[in-house]
Amino acid sequence: MKVVVAKTAGFCNGVKYALEMLLRVLREKKSGEVVCTYGPLIHNNHVLRMLRERGVEEIDKPEEAAGKIVVIRAHGVPPQTRKILYENAVKVINATCKRVARVQAVIKQHAKKGYHTVIVGDEDHAEVIGLKGYAGENGIVIQSAKDIVLLPDSWKKVLLVAQTTQNEEIFDRISKEFLKKYPQGIVKRTICAATKERQNEVKELAKEVDAMVIVGGFHSGNTVRLTEVSRSTGTPTYHVETEKELPFDEISKYKLIGVSAGASTPQWMIHNVVQALSEL
Ligand code: SF4
Repeated sequence: MKVVVAKTAGFCNGVKYALEMLLRVLREKKSGEVVCTYGPLIHNNHVLRMLRERGVEEIDKPEEAAGKIVVIRAHGVPPQTRKILYENAVKVINATCKRVARVQAVIKQHAKKGYHTVIVGDEDHAEVIGLKGYAGENGIVIQSAKDIVLLPDSWKKVLLVAQTTQNEEIFDRISKEFLKKYPQGIVKRTICAATKERQNEVKELAKEVDAMVIVGGFHSGNTVRLTEVSRSTGTPTYHVETEKELPFDEISKYKLIGVSAGASTPQWMIHNVVQALSEL
């Protein structure tokens, strides 16, 4: 079996930066100091286990940062949470990805001018929770073009943004409906270039191979979307976290397999999957 690995597979710059910041804090911390992350640093259980083994705690209430060094992950946090973290922690390391911070700033600017913000994304995702916080009382999260119908006609100032890891085609469909309803509305294309590159490469690669394997956490939104993009081409696609979940019997009938991975998948996990496939 031949395996082709996508060039864009694996960590994006935002995730790499957050992990590097955390590892640096672990190296430099004084004895007795406790390091924690607000929420899981990335959506990858194997990396999280490694961090726990190195003593990193995970908190889910900002008050729990009291007396600890806290790392804000790449997804960012709402301003209210950020304030509590700064009030309680010994030190705050802000590893919010620059691209996410830019979307937060756009929402904040428009919220100050009285805009309603419509965010295309997963309501429960940490990045979206953070973005919504910057919209104040006037933020709403939607997932499909159908949701636009449900928005009030009375809104005059309306902004549309996307979670940075959204599917481009879905966002395009939603923005068309949005502008039909609010011709005066503002659309900001806030999908991250790293996401677009990954999705485009997967789309192209999927057309050239017999089957695709996408490696990454089952809870990782961008990995799930990569899987959807690959499936939308009609090519059989398997989403696995590790090589152990590969359906060997089924997959061994293919001659050429394409492999890509989500933005929170470390290289060693991609390597293990590629190796297992190559040995078939
Ligand atoms: S996908 Fe893009 S926006 Fe999200 S953390 Fe990675 S680099 Fe930042």
